Amino acid sequence: MTHVYQWYSFPPAFSILCPRCGAEAIFTEEKGAFRHPPDTPIAGRSTCLSCGYNGSHAITWPDAAYNKAEVRGHVLWAWSAESTDVLIRFLASKERNEKDFPGHYAFLLHLPTVFKQAQMRDQAIAKLKKVLARE
Ligand SMILES: [Zn+2]
Repeated sequence: MTHVYQWYSFPPAFSILCPRCGAEAIFTEEKGAFRHPPDTPIAGRSTCLSCGYNGSHAITWPDAAYNKAEVRGHVLWAWSAESTDVLIRFLASKERNEKDFPGHYAFLLHLPTVFKQAQMRDQAIAKLKKVLARE
């Protein structure tokens, strides 16, 4: 994975694995969204609709990501179900032009090149669809 991908600016809220039940929880940062070096703890609060968990804790990204898949040894992740869907449509599109996905430009721009390679795309799309379907 490239550094620029991990240094991506975090959105105000994103989906993580609930620390208590493993379902989808929404995480917001304590000090507001900003950039983080890879694998450093990010302090914030998460709320889970499944088990009612609501508490402060630290996460590391993308370990805590709710929407993620491993494709041939590379971790592919998205901020939310919406950005997972965008990623699928982006990879499936012929042009793969980040500008065709308003609001997700920066996210797509930081996608590691390895996932755009022909032999990776189909597998990445299939895995992301399973992520969305929770299979
Ligand atoms: Zn939970």
